[in-house]
Amino acid sequence: MNEKMKVVAIADERKVEIKEVRKPAPKADQILMKIKECAICTWEQRTYTRESRMPLPFVGGHEIVGEVAALGTGVNEKEFPIGKKIVARLINVCGKCYFCRRGEENLCVEINNLDSSEMEIPGTGGMGEYLVISASQAYQIPDEIPDEKAVFAEPLACVLNSIEKGRIELGDDVVVLGGGIMGMLHVMCAKLSGARVIMSEPDAERRRIAGALGCDITCNPLETDPVEFIKSVTEGRGAEVVFNTTPISQVAKQAVQMTAYMGRCVMYSSQHPDKPFEISPNWLHNSEAVITGAVSPSVRSFNRAVNLLAKSIINPEKLISGIYTMEKADEAFEAAVRPDTFRIIIKF
Ligand SMILES: [Zn+2]
Ligand SMILES: [Zn+2]
Repeated sequence: MNEKMKVVAIADERKVEIKEVRKPAPKADQILMKIKECAICTWEQRTYTRESRMPLPFVGGHEIVGEVAALGTGVNEKEFPIGKKIVARLINVCGKCYFCRRGEENLCVEINNLDSSEMEIPGTGGMGEYLVISASQAYQIPDEIPDEKAVFAEPLACVLNSIEKGRIELGDDVVVLGGGIMGMLHVMCAKLSGARVIMSEPDAERRRIAGALGCDITCNPLETDPVEFIKSVTEGRGAEVVFNTTPISQVAKQAVQMTAYMGRCVMYSSQHPDKPFEISPNWLHNSEAVITGAVSPSVRSFNRAVNLLAKSIINPEKLISGIYTMEKADEAFEAAVRPDTFRIIIKF
């Protein structure tokens, strides 16, 4: 068996190439997934622009939907029949470390050690025609759910992990800082949780889209101080829950400053660059506020994301800005790094 398949590899700065590599075969407890669609996430965009220095060539892709193409021994064919639509939680967890044992697999110490044993070109491997995954990473999703919806399982799962940390209560004021794709998904989930949602975002078109998704109030942080603005609409208290979806340290600081007493402030985005800022221990003492973070999807949040998509309770496909064939992957990447696009999809 020496079958070949095509992958989209990042070859150099702002350069992607289609390469032919060996088609992998599933071993015990593994599934060969035929990839239908893969979205280009921020991480792959940063690798493409070389903001992130992942060694090249690199085959990214972890926001994927596809179908079962072949089964390794030990995988139940009734559970995963050939052709069944699946999504995959492409995070490698060891199942044995301190955090895995505590059920906090998204903090697994092995999480960045990708299993590239089956891959000719390293990476998460979602940007190719086929991918071998372990059966435990595969989640069934109804065949009638469009690929354009199912492909959101991973990013939605990341956001649901964040939403869970925010512990939104009915009637809370929830602030979402930043109107990128992750900000928009936070708006949708916060509305579903029964909150009044306020977004701070400098771009007028993004504020308009947030409004169309149900955001109640928007503000332009370039025109009004966002901390003052949030206090002005919350009788001076600040918001019960604040999500920072931007990589900007000044905004992270404002996120803390606009959090109410007893509130929760969630640092959803990683910071680039990471600039520390001061927090008053006395303010924490007096406020009983919680400042926390959210990283990667948990097993629990992934399962919830699949449920929300499978039942069409959340419909994020309207956030797709373009769908490209594999042959046009270079155009897809250029579109993905443009600030006016949300998710760009590559079809295989
Ligand atoms: Zn992602
Ligand atoms: Zn682990």
